[in-house]
Amino acid sequence: MKYISTRGGCDPQSFNDVLLTGLAPDGGLFLPDQWPDIDTGWMSRVSGLSYGSLAAQIMQPFIGDDIPADIFQGIVDNVYGIDAQNFDHAAIAPLRQIGPNVWLMELFHGPTLSFKDVAMQLLGPLFDYVLKQRSQRVTILAATSGDTGSAAIHGCQGRDNIDIVVLHPHNKTSEVQRRQMTSVDAKNVHNIAVKGNFDDCQALVKASFADETFRKDMNLTAVNSINWARIMAQMVYYFAAALALGGPRRPISFAVPTGNFGNIFAAYSAKKMGLPIDKLIIANNPNDTLARFFYTGAMKPGKAITSLSPSMDIQVPSNFERYLYELLKGDETRLRDIMGHLRDKRHFNLSTDLMPRAQHDFYGFSASDTDTLDMIQMCYETTGIIVDPHTAVGLQAAQAMHNDPEVPLVVLACAHPAKFPDTIEKALGVRPPMPRKLVSVMKAKENYAVIDNELPALHEYMRGKLQ
Ligand SMILES: *Cc1c(COP(=O)(O)O)cnc(C)c1O
Repeated sequence: MKYISTRGGCDPQSFNDVLLTGLAPDGGLFLPDQWPDIDTGWMSRVSGLSYGSLAAQIMQPFIGDDIPADIFQGIVDNVYGIDAQNFDHAAIAPLRQIGPNVWLMELFHGPTLSFKDVAMQLLGPLFDYVLKQRSQRVTILAATSGDTGSAAIHGCQGRDNIDIVVLHPHNKTSEVQRRQMTSVDAKNVHNIAVKGNFDDCQALVKASFADETFRKDMNLTAVNSINWARIMAQMVYYFAAALALGGPRRPISFAVPTGNFGNIFAAYSAKKMGLPIDKLIIANNPNDTLARFFYTGAMKPGKAITSLSPSMDIQVPSNFERYLYELLKGDETRLRDIMGHLRDKRHFNLSTDLMPRAQHDFYGFSASDTDTLDMIQMCYETTGIIVDPHTAVGLQAAQAMHNDPEVPLVVLACAHPAKFPDTIEKALGVRPPMPRKLVSVMKAKENYAVIDNELPALHEYMRGKLQ
């Protein structure tokens, strides 16, 4: 299988190249040039496999010959296997029923307690394998609204051929989120707090990649959700959940808390491969660029609003370009026009003939902070389960949009509530119990630099530290 750029400006690439470069050289995002077609017979056969075995089966077609199948299975077993120690639940993504035909999929059993670990724990070893094969060294540069950074750092710490630099918005992540990044004491890990918001951090990362000299000097690579390998790894749990709940015999709906459109694009990808999915519900917080888009056809990012679900305080959903490519049926010229308009004018309108398809693919909903607190409370009262604020946004959307009681609905529980103790206390009056792995994190010494929101400040810092 080869990968093409959404903007049509580069030759087809192999999986390993796509893994290492992240963003396509023409500024677009990589997509597979064809989708493996999985039939219901295959799905029935793999249903019941362990998460690790299922993961290897689903991902292998996307990797092709780039990594021999037995080696890839070994890597996957080390990450998700029964004997692996990375996740504290053997099911990796266990389902928990919370209502008639409604389930939470718990994706927070990894080392940093968010769903980002599910992909990042795999990306670290994949990078290591490919870099060793090629005798290369890279610098991973990532922007984080809170959870990507810690998950990436934990996936990459101590690895021989990787330096990792993570930008987070200064004072705009929760304390737990910050400490999970800054408490890691490894020579190859560099944390930077930028005086700005997440979109500023992301803009610095994008500008660094666009600076050819800097990119080459540092051998920059990206592990943001724009990296295809993350989407690929996230597809697996949609299959796992659907197969556990009666798929492929019956379709399943998912409500996905989202900001960057990454996780929900993984669900869409699973659907493209043939997994019967009924509804895909986008759950936004007050940063509702996506929800508004699917109502109106107008994409109009504003200024990011600080909310109680900070990992979704994102106005520019970078993965949306992948879906746009699908909607436009691969019309790269039209896509470049639209993306150019978005960059220059900060908005675009999708032509009305495409809206029915878009509104068939996704349903959007946005929950306020008050909704979020109410839902944390209501969920606790009716089920005894404490959900994190992102999950609460998902539950709100699910409640609002799910109108078919016959179809099982899975709400993605994207983070452990202990990552957001202040918000939980606000909703419930008590702080959530702290998992053992967080206790030491909260006491450890922090390592990070604070810089102004300016490209030269970042480049000076990195050139000083990394050479
Ligand atoms: C990253 C993150 C999200 C949003 O993920 P997308 O890839 O933008 O969909 C939601 N919730 C939590 C807890 C996160 O860490």
